[in-house]
Amino acid sequence: MNIKIYPAPVLLKKATPVKEITDEIRKTLDEMLELMYEINGVGLAAPQVGISKRMLVIDTARVDEGETKRPIKMINPKITKLSKEECECEEGCLSLPEIYREVKRPCEVTVEYTDENGKPQKLTADELLGRAIQHEIDHLNGVVFIDHLSALKKKMAVSRLEKIIKKYLES
Ligand SMILES: [Zn+2]
Repeated sequence: MNIKIYPAPVLLKKATPVKEITDEIRKTLDEMLELMYEINGVGLAAPQVGISKRMLVIDTARVDEGETKRPIKMINPKITKLSKEECECEEGCLSLPEIYREVKRPCEVTVEYTDENGKPQKLTADELLGRAIQHEIDHLNGVVFIDHLSALKKKMAVSRLEKIIKKYLES
């Protein structure tokens, strides 16, 4: 399992729903969480590891500061409510290394999803968790955070990313 870097085709297309929650699906979610912790991510969506399925993992606990892990695994998540009020905050993405930009999003989100045991769940969140949920669900729809910027700002971010990737490949 490795992280797909933008603009990998799997990051640009809509992922398909998970039809059945099998051991294979549960194993994949566990592996995604493990990888996310390893690289200090807050969230990881299946398309980011090359799997075009509607599932994701999130943990906003500051594990590096001694907080206990709070893993959330979402299968087929669906946003059912977004606040009118919007908040602007800096975002980054494991698929866009070293790119950080201010992104405006609704401050609060309500999401309904199925957990890894097949139980329906509902969660309302704001702040970092609310933002991570929206960011990760975007990935399931082929959307990355720089798509929320103006066309010019997005173009600048993409050309910056190209330079960063080139630097990685050269070193
Ligand atoms: Zn991301």
